[in-house]
Amino acid sequence: MIYRFKGYIAIFDILYSAEKLLVRKELRLLKVNEIYFSIQGESSKAGLPCVFVRLTYCNLRCTYCDTEYAFYEGKDQSIDEIISEVKKFNCNLVEITGGEPLVQEESIDLMKRLCDDGFDVMLETGGSLSIKNIDERVMIILDLKTPSSGMLKKNLYDNIDIIKQRDEIKFVIGSREDYEWTKEVIEKYNLTSKCGILFSVVFGKLEPVKLVNWILEDNLNVRFQLQMHKFIWEPGKKGV
Ligand code: SF4
Repeated sequence: MIYRFKGYIAIFDILYSAEKLLVRKELRLLKVNEIYFSIQGESSKAGLPCVFVRLTYCNLRCTYCDTEYAFYEGKDQSIDEIISEVKKFNCNLVEITGGEPLVQEESIDLMKRLCDDGFDVMLETGGSLSIKNIDERVMIILDLKTPSSGMLKKNLYDNIDIIKQRDEIKFVIGSREDYEWTKEVIEKYNLTSKCGILFSVVFGKLEPVKLVNWILEDNLNVRFQLQMHKFIWEPGKKGV
């Protein structure tokens, strides 16, 4: 009798969650983890003031992830509510980040609406989902996951055919193996002719000087970067 009762509760929970998802979809709500104003820490726009819209959920689980708090936490907001919050910071540069922003398909509309409103929009995506429906005005920072991320099999290489000159592909490198793999991928797909290339270290795992020396030894045409916010503030600090 007790087991049957627990079974009913479980079914009720599933139906309730499914209904909530449907309602959110109908209302075109996005689950937003945080919206904050900080310095752009990565990419060729590093150092510029920027508003960050961090969306909830991620379909990946990288070994070095530093935003696990964005996997589930967040509040439902409409596109209008998000844009009006962004406008309060009076800053033209906006980055949509996560988690993985493209898990929520409404993020595509959010980016378009921001572009229509005259914002300079960037998207940071993990590289496992298609970028084909993203507004051409958006600058895309696309990760290609290296072996030490544990997510190598999730890379969607079809995205390379769509990437634009002003977009950037980011490799987060945690070992010499990652570095060698990255060099092979750059050569195989002729990436340097297609877009900008960013090299980062896995924070706390690979010393930046090692990666810089490897880049110089091989004379690679890539941009080395540090996650600037981790040096300005405490490495684990949220909302910066
Ligand atoms: S894609 Fe980004 S947010 Fe998702 S697990 Fe990897 S590092 Fe974390």
